[in-house]
Amino acid sequence: MKYRAFPALVIALLASLSTTAAPVSQQRLLSADSDTDNWLSYGRSYKEQRFSPLSEVNTDNVGELGLAWYFETDTHLGLETTPLVIDGVMYFTGAWSTAYAVNAATGELIWSFDPKVPREKSVTACCGVVNRGLAAWENKLFLGTVDGRLIAIDQTSGKQIWSSQTTDPDQAYSITGAPRVAKGKVFIGNGGSEFGTRGYVSAYDADNGEMVWRFYTIPGNPADGFENDAMERAAKTWNGEWWQYGGGGTAWDAIVYDPELDQLYIGVGNGAPHNRRIRSPGGGDNLYLSSVLALNPDTGEYLWHYQEVPADNWDYTASQQITLADIPWQGEQRKVILHAPKAGFVYIIDRANGELLSAEPFTTVTWASHYDMDTGRPVENEGQDYDGKPAVVYPSAIGGHNWQPMAYSPQTGLLYIPELDMGMPFDEIKGPDYKHLKRHFNTGYKLTQADASQRFTQALLKHLPKSHLLAWDPAKQEVAWKMPHPYIHNGGVLATAGGLVFQGTSDGRFLGVRADNGELLWTFNTQNSVLPGPVSYRANGEQYIAVAVGRGGALTMNTGKSFPTENPNNRIMAFKVGGSAVLPPVTVPDRPIPPPSLAMSDADVEEGRQLFQRFCSRCHGAYAVGDGSIPDLRYLEPIWHENFEAVVLQGLMEKAGMPRFDEALDREQVEKIHAYVIERAHEDHALRQESGWFADAKNAVIDVFARFMAWVIRTTTS
Ligand code: CA
Repeated sequence: MKYRAFPALVIALLASLSTTAAPVSQQRLLSADSDTDNWLSYGRSYKEQRFSPLSEVNTDNVGELGLAWYFETDTHLGLETTPLVIDGVMYFTGAWSTAYAVNAATGELIWSFDPKVPREKSVTACCGVVNRGLAAWENKLFLGTVDGRLIAIDQTSGKQIWSSQTTDPDQAYSITGAPRVAKGKVFIGNGGSEFGTRGYVSAYDADNGEMVWRFYTIPGNPADGFENDAMERAAKTWNGEWWQYGGGGTAWDAIVYDPELDQLYIGVGNGAPHNRRIRSPGGGDNLYLSSVLALNPDTGEYLWHYQEVPADNWDYTASQQITLADIPWQGEQRKVILHAPKAGFVYIIDRANGELLSAEPFTTVTWASHYDMDTGRPVENEGQDYDGKPAVVYPSAIGGHNWQPMAYSPQTGLLYIPELDMGMPFDEIKGPDYKHLKRHFNTGYKLTQADASQRFTQALLKHLPKSHLLAWDPAKQEVAWKMPHPYIHNGGVLATAGGLVFQGTSDGRFLGVRADNGELLWTFNTQNSVLPGPVSYRANGEQYIAVAVGRGGALTMNTGKSFPTENPNNRIMAFKVGGSAVLPPVTVPDRPIPPPSLAMSDADVEEGRQLFQRFCSRCHGAYAVGDGSIPDLRYLEPIWHENFEAVVLQGLMEKAGMPRFDEALDREQVEKIHAYVIERAHEDHALRQESGWFADAKNAVIDVFARFMAWVIRTTTS
C-alpha cells in the first residue's frame, strides 16, 4: 500500500496521530493558557477564569454560528457539567455521576462510564443527582460520585482504575462537584450541610487513590479532641452543641490550586442549620463557615482564611467559583482572588495573605450595609437577622450568584457574573420548637402566619426577582454593563479572545454577547434550559463553542418549568461557524385527566401542601410544578395514584431514584400530600381548558410570577 495512493488516509492518519492523547501532565496544566485548542480542567486553567484564548469566532462572525452536532444523553435529569476537551476528545459527566467521552468534532460516542450509584442516595442529594465535571491527570480522569466515591477512570478505555470512598456512607454526604488535581494529588470536597454533615476537603494520591490528607472546615465535638490547631482556634468561635447538627461548612464546589503561590483555596459552605441561633446559641463567628480558606496543597495545613459572612444566618455559602487574576490595583499589579458568592458582594482578596481589598455589592443586598475595610468585616443591617421578627432579606438563600460558573476576560479586565437579584422571607423557628431531621433538609426558619405572608408578598412585589448577565469592573469596583433576562436562574458564562461572552438562559436561549458592552450578537434556541458554563476548543482546525443543555438541578427543580413542551433528553450541543445540524422538533404532550379529589377537609389538604413543600418540592417543584427533569406529579398516570403510598412510604420506585420517606412521614400525612397533589392536577387541568398551554405572552408573565411565588413559599417552609 503506497501512501501517495491514499492521500486522504494519510491526512486522516496524521490527524489522528496529532490528536492522540498526550498525557495531561503537570507541565501541560501549568501552560494551559497557551494550550489554545484544549480545555484541560474545570475552569480551563488553574486560574479558573473560563477565558478561551481562541478568536476565530469573534464579534464579526458570531452571527454565523450554527449547531455542529449534539449528543443526547438518555435522561431528563440535570446536566451541570463543564466538559473537558483533550486532544480532540470531549469528556463530560451526566446525572447519577456518569461520564462520557465523545469525538469533539462530531459528538460520536467513544465510551461511557456508569459508577452505578445506589438510587436511594437521591434523598440526600440536595439539588438533584447532578455532577459538574471531571479532572484529568496523566492518562486518568477523576470523577466524584453522589454516594461519595472518588473514581479514577482510564482516559482511553473508560474503565475504572481505582475507587476510594471519601465519605462515611452512613452519613448524608454527597459529591456533585468536580475534583481538581495538582502535584500528583486529587482534591475533592462534598456536600450535605443541611442534612447534618460536617464539611471537609481531602487529597488523594492520583496514582493509587490513597488518602494523603484531610482538612475539616469546621470543628467537631471538642470532647473528641481537635484534628489540628486551626480547629482548636475555630472551636472558640462556636457555642452550644453544633456538632449535633453537623454544623455544615461543606466544600461542594470551588477548590482551586494556585501554582504561583503554591496554595490551595477552598470555598467553604454555609452553616447548618441556617438559623445561627439554633446552630450556635450564644453567638460567635463560626469559623470557617462562609470563608475562603488557604491550605498547603502537600499537607493540608491551614495557611490563612478570610471569612466573608461571619456567623452566616442565610445559607450564604462561599463555595462559589474562585477565580485567580492579576489585576491593576491602585497603581500596582496585585495577585488576587475574584469571588462573587451568594452573599451578593464581589470580594477582591489578596491571595498571598487573605487581605480584603474590596467588597462591593453586585446585586441587591440588604443583610449588610457595607464592609468595614479596617476590620474586613461586614456591617449587618438591623432586623435582617430575623431574630424574633420575620424579615425579607436580599439576596435569597439561592444567592446573588450560585454555582453557575462566571468568567473573567484578561482582554477586557471584566468579570462576567450570572446574577440573580432576588430576596426571600425568613421567619425563624425558635430553638425549643426546632426539630432536627437527620437525612432531611434543615434550615431553622419557615413561613407560617397569614399576616406575615401578606407582608412578605407586598415587600417582594415591590421588588420582583430579576436576573442579569452582569459585567463587573474589578479595578473600578462597579458594574460595567448588565443585560437583563426575562427569567430567573440562568446559566454559566464563557469569555473568549474573540471579544465575546457566551451564556445560556433558563428559557432556552444560548447567547453570544459583545464582551466590552453587552450587545447581543447571536441567539440560538436550545429547546431546553441551559445551566452550566460553556467551553471553547479547537478540533480538526475549527473553533467550537459547546455547552450542556437541560433542566434539572436545584434551581429549575424548585421553580418549575418555563416550557409547555415535552423535555427532550438532556444534551451536549457544539457550535461552529457554518454549523448546520438541526434539532428534532419538540412536541406538546397529552396530559392525563386527573382522578377525582380525595374526600378530605380543606385543612387537611392545606396540611398536605405544607408537607409537600417541605419534603417533596425540592425535587418535584414548589406548588407541584415540576421542571420535567423528573415526573411532574400533576400529570401522574392512574397507576401511580393507585400506588402513591407504596411509592412514598415503601420505596416502590427507590431503584429509579425516588427515595422512601417512611422515616419522616406516616400514612395519614402521605394521604394528605396525595390529596394536595390531586387538587393541583385539577387546578392545572382547569387552567389548560381555559387558556391552552401558556402559549400567549399574558400567560408567560403569569407563569414567571407563579413560579417565583412558588419558590418563595417553597424555600420558606423547609
Ligand atoms: Ca446550602
